[in-house]
Amino acid sequence: MTSFQVQLPDLLQYKRILFIQPHPDDNDIGAGATIAKLAASGCEIHYLTVTDGRSGSDDPDLSSEKLIFTRREEQLAAGQRLGVHSFHWLDYPDGHLEDTESLRSDLIWSIRLIRPDAIITVDPWLPYEAHIDHVVTGKVVSYAGLFSGNPHFFPEHLSSGLALHRVEAIGYYATAQPNTQISVDKYWTHKIEAIRCHQSQFSGESLQFLEDYLTTQAKTLAVHAKRGSQFVESFKLLTPLMLHMNTQAFSM
Ligand SMILES: [Zn+2]
Repeated sequence: MTSFQVQLPDLLQYKRILFIQPHPDDNDIGAGATIAKLAASGCEIHYLTVTDGRSGSDDPDLSSEKLIFTRREEQLAAGQRLGVHSFHWLDYPDGHLEDTESLRSDLIWSIRLIRPDAIITVDPWLPYEAHIDHVVTGKVVSYAGLFSGNPHFFPEHLSSGLALHRVEAIGYYATAQPNTQISVDKYWTHKIEAIRCHQSQFSGESLQFLEDYLTTQAKTLAVHAKRGSQFVESFKLLTPLMLHMNTQAFSM
């Protein structure tokens, strides 16, 4: 009988990580404390935001242009608190993201340009995830991570000066199937401070609810992780190979 041992990626070993979010705030909510921890340890953190955030308001009188500008400023302030190295924007219309050739090309182009060891995004296979921007972002980022090293995918990138690039790991936050727990005690307040920068999204009761929800979740994860830490963020980390025709990836 043979045994097939699979080595899961180790998030804390990477030197450069690209966090790709559907909207300006998802990275901070899903992974902010881990991002602060990685940045403090010398890992170069890059942010790529896929949509422009224009739909993130219930106020019908607020113009798209104003909200897009505000949310970008909020994301810059939040990311700077966490130690983010650079910010990139694709500016697809918020709320209407589709899996298009253009989005696939833009994501593979970004990976070939930034050349991260790992890419992290939202988990598109989260049960009951209804936001189409999250499902599309998670799936197309996974596709991009699978093929950014293949010369037959968007060869025009190469003639414009970019080189092929293979990522070592693809990871997901806001996941129902985590396989990685990161202790973030020293960095929990960084995350809360970053979330408070998104004033157009969270204030008063909604901010209090989000902080309470995330803090309770992080404390519960810490109890289950049994590491003696107070706050934990969890991720699903896979290698690109695990993301195609792999029947074990779900339970890994
Ligand atoms: Zn979002």
